[in-house]
Amino acid sequence: MTELHCDVLIVGGGLAGTWAAVAAAREGVKVILVDKGYCGTSGVTATAGPGHWWVPPAAREAAIEKRLGTAYGLADARWMARAIDTTWTSLPGLSDYYAFPQNHQGETQYRGLRGPEYLRGLRQRVLDSGVTLLDHHPALELLRDDNGNVVGARGWRRQAGGDWLIRTGAVVLATGGCAFLSRLLGNHTNTGDGYLMAAEAGAELSGMEFSNYYCIAAAGSSMTRSMVYSFGEYFDAADRPLGISTGPGFTEALARALLNGPVYCRLNRVPQAIRAQLPSIQPNLMLPFDRRGIDPYRHRFAVTLHPEGTIRGVGGLRLIDDDCQTTVPGVFAAGDAASREPIAGATSGGGAQNSAWALSTGQWAGRGAALLARRKAAYHGALRGFEGVAGGNAELIRRIQAQVHPLDKNLFRSGDQLDRSLRELDNVWDQLRGAPITTNPLRARETAAMAATARWCYTAAALRKESRGMHQRSDTPAQNPRYDAHLRLQGVDQIQARFDPVIHER
Ligand SMILES: Cc1cc2nc3c(=O)[nH]c(=O)nc-3n(C[C@H](O)[C@H](O)[C@H](O)COP(=O)(O)OP(=O)(O)OC[C@H]3O[C@@H](n4cnc5c(N)ncnc54)[C@H](O)[C@@H]3O)c2cc1C
Repeated sequence: MTELHCDVLIVGGGLAGTWAAVAAAREGVKVILVDKGYCGTSGVTATAGPGHWWVPPAAREAAIEKRLGTAYGLADARWMARAIDTTWTSLPGLSDYYAFPQNHQGETQYRGLRGPEYLRGLRQRVLDSGVTLLDHHPALELLRDDNGNVVGARGWRRQAGGDWLIRTGAVVLATGGCAFLSRLLGNHTNTGDGYLMAAEAGAELSGMEFSNYYCIAAAGSSMTRSMVYSFGEYFDAADRPLGISTGPGFTEALARALLNGPVYCRLNRVPQAIRAQLPSIQPNLMLPFDRRGIDPYRHRFAVTLHPEGTIRGVGGLRLIDDDCQTTVPGVFAAGDAASREPIAGATSGGGAQNSAWALSTGQWAGRGAALLARRKAAYHGALRGFEGVAGGNAELIRRIQAQVHPLDKNLFRSGDQLDRSLRELDNVWDQLRGAPITTNPLRARETAAMAATARWCYTAAALRKESRGMHQRSDTPAQNPRYDAHLRLQGVDQIQARFDPVIHER
């Protein structure tokens, strides 16, 4: 067992975790960042090309009004303004680590970044900040002192073997969201581990019913970079046009068509200017086509929808203050690990807000954790875990996926189906409880995390008996003012739920 200590432990080294580490280190405290993969390449930003919510001061009021309009009453203008401002003031500070391009007028462009270079730059910035970076060191559980306070974490050394234990003053969970191993680009390490660890320690989750975002990709490929598909033409197997057009109802229309049979796409309408830019803005987009000898601008190819769960969904750990602390003292959350309701409400913050959220909450949490840790005395006594579930096998993972991936169960919801899925997921959970610990402790905990996350998502979806934002139910098709509230969940074995009235701080 390797034993280390620090003031702030950051779990997860994606977009949120790296920004959190830099912000914590700026406060002069000792910071360790552990990642399940390799910080700089793991997580969903590293493979994507994130556009940030990048809004000049004069346009902010209108931008916030617009997003409040699609948040269905669950977002908060003050949090939106904070995220926009933090994004605006932070990105230019990265110019030593990322070559921001200029437009024809010579103005530096900060909004859209190439994921691989962005994360590589952030990794270097983390290292230059004096943070200890431990790659391939997944966290498995949080640890507590005799009074139940979270004062550490335990994990596994994937490459060197054996366990690690880190004593800490505060923890930032930046473990990303959970797409239930859906072959979404870059999501293989995002299995909801942070939700499980925090929930075992007593943390509340929020907005878990808004967890069913789906993204288009070529069938058989994980390349979920979707911009070009807005120029696509869609056909059925007999080459009949399906009349699927881009816009708010695109995913639902495509999903309905996919439930009837294969759907094909041709990208012949992508403008020449965009085709010319693609190699520099989305360098990996064409790879799956090239490998198969398909020219997507001329040939039709089959498409599919990949479920994203809470990644470009909304739900996650509930934040209770401006420092992004969860309901467990000393445990902070950032990025997709945290519920994004404060800025996105009931709809995905995709295409801008999500990155701004990760960047901002990362920094708020990192700083908040550092300030808290500075006020705390180090704990030297014995540490204990939370007796979490750790078991599982490939068959149980398939059973979880069979409930949360299908379009006709998760995108198109109904009360009866949600109840059926919950019964099956409860059975999976019971089996996990009794399952022997496998030789791979990480996969065992990942399985438990995915099962727990699926149960939270569907428990919340079953309790919100209305349709709102991305949560659409055929048995309750209208939005109901009775549910103008956040749905908070707590508990791992027994899930408790409560509706919390929305307080607008504007
Ligand atoms: C294809 C795609 C395109 C996107 N495009 C945009 C866009 O244009 N604009 C936008 O705003 N948003 C976009 N998003 C969303 C955005 O990328 C995410 O919101 C953002 O990456 C979240 O950052 P994060 O750090 O919370 O999670 P991630 O970047 O996923 O990082 C999570 C990290 O935690 C690590 N981890 C997980 N579990 C553990 C554990 N147990 N122990 C240690 N480490 C762990 C992972 O290895 C990973 O490094 C896109 C998402 C996808 C999938």
